[in-house]
Amino acid sequence: MDTTWDCIVVGGGAAGLSAALVLGRARQRTLVIDAGNQSNQSAAGIGGLLGHDGRPPAAFYAAGREELAAYPTVELRSGEVLGGERRDAGFVLDLADGSREVAARVLLATGMDYHFPELPGIAERWGRSVFHCPFCHGWEVRDQTLAVLDRGARGVQRALLLRFWSDDVTLLTDGPAELEAEDAARLRAARVALDERPVAGLRGADSALEAVAFADGGERRCSALLVPVTLHQRSALAEKLGASAADPGPVVVDAVEVDPKFQTSMPGLFAAGDVSAQMPSVANAVAAGSTAAAMIVHDSMAEAHGLTPVGTGSGSAR
Ligand SMILES: Cc1cc2nc3c(=O)[nH]c(=O)nc-3n(C[C@H](O)[C@H](O)[C@H](O)COP(=O)(O)OP(=O)(O)OC[C@H]3O[C@@H](n4cnc5c(N)ncnc54)[C@H](O)[C@@H]3O)c2cc1C
Repeated sequence: MDTTWDCIVVGGGAAGLSAALVLGRARQRTLVIDAGNQSNQSAAGIGGLLGHDGRPPAAFYAAGREELAAYPTVELRSGEVLGGERRDAGFVLDLADGSREVAARVLLATGMDYHFPELPGIAERWGRSVFHCPFCHGWEVRDQTLAVLDRGARGVQRALLLRFWSDDVTLLTDGPAELEAEDAARLRAARVALDERPVAGLRGADSALEAVAFADGGERRCSALLVPVTLHQRSALAEKLGASAADPGPVVVDAVEVDPKFQTSMPGLFAAGDVSAQMPSVANAVAAGSTAAAMIVHDSMAEAHGLTPVGTGSGSAR
């Protein structure tokens, strides 16, 4: 089989571009195929990424793509990988435009779909005045009137966490709170207000938030809302290529299972970034993509010289 590419990277977000940089610097023939839908596109800036703190996501990805132009073995292509299979010494991938590409190794850097609660007004404020991660967006809304939409012990913990960013925090339980007595005491001690009224929607101009509206017709002033999310694979591509899913977690529902070297259960198939992460962030995606790429190069070298492949446990460190 003619393996046109040493590696195809599926996805051109933080993980995929970071991997492509390391692969390009290692002179690997690398194709990055990207559908262009990075998960943080709606955010005004990337919070907490050293060297790029607060930078608009689009500018960050454009800078990453620009850096890759210096490496002649790397090609960036807009498109979508729909499926594929392991064949002989590599993988055949089927693209949405009808073409096929063949590679010795594949890195899945496809990100995840973030599912937020179905509540009128969230979608248009997502990543702006409605957010899921206080470490990403808490600084931008510090000292404002904040609310947490969640239930049970997790809601209590998220509300207590948000107190680092504001003295004015309300926990909205969207129905009876059903809290343990200790948790109710913790909220009182931290001066977190509790509002159990069923939530009907959000009000405010454009992507701004001014108030949370309740089913009883009342409102509570609020300028930013922390909501729970679950993360889901964007397609069945990983499964089609033979990768197993990790055990479901409360937030990350169906991550691809990888070992510490980002190798999936299918030899030659690696996964990095949100798609295989338990702590999703841009910094973690950059780090994962970088390490996965180094492991892919090691794996290639090991195969070429009859050494133990990366996925079988004794691949060397960088
Ligand atoms: C609203 C929001 C705001 C956030 N803000 C922050 C923040 O401020 N700071 C922070 O650290 N983290 C933030 N995060 C988390 C962060 O964005 C992610 O952890 C990070 O983007 C993951 O990078 P990734 O490369 O794994 O995936 P992504 O950035 O999602 O990139 C994956 C890429 O793969 C493409 N793709 C998927 N499937 C295919 C396919 N089959 N074929 C071709 N291409 C495909 C997608 O279109 C996409 O372009 C935020 C997340 C959200 C949802």
